[in-house]
Amino acid sequence: MSEKNENSWFSDLLLAWYADNGRQLPWRETKDPYKIWISEVVLQQTRVEQGLPYYLRFVERFPTVVDLAEASEDEVLKHWQGLGYYSRARNLHAAAKQISTDRQGNIPDTYEGLRAMKGVGDYTAADIAALAYGLPHAAIDGNGYRVLSRVFGIDTPIDSTRGKKEFAQLGAELVSQSKPGEFNQGLMDLGATVCTPKNPQCESCPLTDKCHAQQHNKWQELPVKEKKTKVHDRFFYYFHITLPDGRILVKQRKDKDIWIGLFDYPMVESQSALEQAELFSSKEFKQLKKRMKGLTVTGEGKSLKHQLSHQTLHTTLYYCQAEKAELKDNEQAVEVDEFNQLAIPRLIELLGGKK
Ligand code: SF4
Repeated sequence: MSEKNENSWFSDLLLAWYADNGRQLPWRETKDPYKIWISEVVLQQTRVEQGLPYYLRFVERFPTVVDLAEASEDEVLKHWQGLGYYSRARNLHAAAKQISTDRQGNIPDTYEGLRAMKGVGDYTAADIAALAYGLPHAAIDGNGYRVLSRVFGIDTPIDSTRGKKEFAQLGAELVSQSKPGEFNQGLMDLGATVCTPKNPQCESCPLTDKCHAQQHNKWQELPVKEKKTKVHDRFFYYFHITLPDGRILVKQRKDKDIWIGLFDYPMVESQSALEQAELFSSKEFKQLKKRMKGLTVTGEGKSLKHQLSHQTLHTTLYYCQAEKAELKDNEQAVEVDEFNQLAIPRLIELLGGKK
């Protein structure tokens, strides 16, 4: 496809704006597909400002795909701690091992090859292909969908199959053939900093003269989403149990649920909020008490509401002591120092472990 077509104004304006206004980020200074891949995965569901320190720490500890492949899953999860969505870290690790074993550490250099890596979707494959190898693939994230739907006045739902196809086609028509990486990063930056969801800065936007939403005062209606994500409530009552020798009890999450492989405390879960009396007379608490000889609740810790993408966790921590514990397979009694080395969900960090 030639660089000039009827929509080339879009990439011309975007690239000129990006050259002056693009954010300076470490993964934009490199062509190393491994580092670009890590940045992509860190930034899924995470804002750049939040993700940057995690990215830096991660690539410092695991500077190459082989270093990542050789690390233990616990260590990878520990370095991911706080970013959430731990399946992303597990997929990264699995893909790194595969690349290390099957491809001598060489990351694929085609869109199709990248797309076949574990955990790599259309967006990530397109962005690595464009940034690392200069291949003309448009990578459209939530920011990109917002800009495109507003500029071109597209009201096809962005989360529908039809919408995804329509936006992918438009992206393929618009993407710069000579600077696809800059095009993708520019689209993301414009959406993140100018064409924001609630308060777009149309007066300082390079696309303002061409923008359908701006001309028809429709930015509030675009983009359109088909499904409203359902959020459901869960109620977690955690028990921070200390044994006479000072060790505390932790459990590793094994079930098919959030935070697989991470450590939290023994708990009771309920589908609705429980009064203290209800909690302490619940079947689950009684079962716990049966395994924890001489269990006494010594105090109530923090209560926090913790938001995940599809779940709201209402959590309370209770401090307890027990004389002796009968442990399940996934439970351990650990020293405080040991506890600090374990990979724990952000929620447990926020609830705190020490009284
Ligand atoms: S003119 Fe306004 S609505 Fe249109 S792309 Fe720019 S910031 Fe978004």
